[in-house]
Amino acid sequence: MIFALRIRLLRQPALNAQLQRWALLWMVVFSGLGAFGAIQTTNDPVLHSISKTYDGKEYIPLEALAKSFQLKLSWKPGDDHLWLSNQWLRARFFIDSHRCELDGIVVSMSHAVIARGGVPLLSRQDYSSLFRPLLVPAKNRPKKQIRTVALDPGHGGKDPGNQDGARKEKDFTLKLAQELKERLQQCGLKVVLTRADDMFVPLEDRPTRAKQRGADAMLSLHFNAISRPNSQIRGSVVYCLTPEGSESTEGNSDGIPPVHYPGNRQDQFNVLLAYNIQKAIVRNLDSDDLGVRRARWVVLRNAEMPAVLIEGGFMSDPQDAHRIYSDHYRKQLAQAIIDGFLAYKRLVER
Ligand SMILES: [Zn+2]
Repeated sequence: MIFALRIRLLRQPALNAQLQRWALLWMVVFSGLGAFGAIQTTNDPVLHSISKTYDGKEYIPLEALAKSFQLKLSWKPGDDHLWLSNQWLRARFFIDSHRCELDGIVVSMSHAVIARGGVPLLSRQDYSSLFRPLLVPAKNRPKKQIRTVALDPGHGGKDPGNQDGARKEKDFTLKLAQELKERLQQCGLKVVLTRADDMFVPLEDRPTRAKQRGADAMLSLHFNAISRPNSQIRGSVVYCLTPEGSESTEGNSDGIPPVHYPGNRQDQFNVLLAYNIQKAIVRNLDSDDLGVRRARWVVLRNAEMPAVLIEGGFMSDPQDAHRIYSDHYRKQLAQAIIDGFLAYKRLVER
């Protein structure tokens, strides 16, 4: 409600410059993560702060980000982590690490935060492709609403996906899709599926099918597994497309060139969608948080609409597996995904 009022205030053409400045200050001061309003790229003081280059990468001082968003920077040289916070947002960064936590949700950055000359620095790439899209969310074109959602149940037919004895990932991704479909339709959304039964659909065809059926967003559904015995790894991950020129979270060992793909046109929306879904899964289900990660999976790089790939737990972990095979838990997972999706929808349609 407060946010809607803020937006209406800024849209009033009769506001004089002084009032607009106050409105902007008010908007920044009274906002939480994902609600800092519409600061244009050309006016963004963080992007205009003095940057430094190390190892061929451009960095900006985290102090500039703190100042711009009225956050307090807590760090002294020698500390291995730092906080940026105000009463609405808490972000934790780790020196020489790609990991950060935004309001407690793990997000993987393209480059590590570094400290040089007693100054903590964030890569310009991460500001532009991660923090800015989350702190200053992009908006859909006026009157452009999300009406159709594509659900992409991973694997199918001759491709079982991960297997745990007789249990196959392809069956559980389809069950989750069916649960999601019903609930999204109850929210008034049209739902299209890239596969509606146990059939094989090549990866390349999945984003194409979503586009042909008019999808405004695509959620690709998977369950993870790790072959290492006695691994303690469990929890959820949401992937979105790696920005052009960046390295994916698990490296570029897949050999996919780090160039621009159709999916990169949605970079600002992809990460916002991924963050909101991961946040809802972790908070609603108390799932271990393996974070928002970047990858150049085929379905992400070819998707022309905002798209994410959700790994809803590990079939290789007894605790996660028990949940994945439970109808009751999959209903809860579907609801968490929808909560995150609707939070995203509200942000981009504001
Ligand atoms: Zn899979």
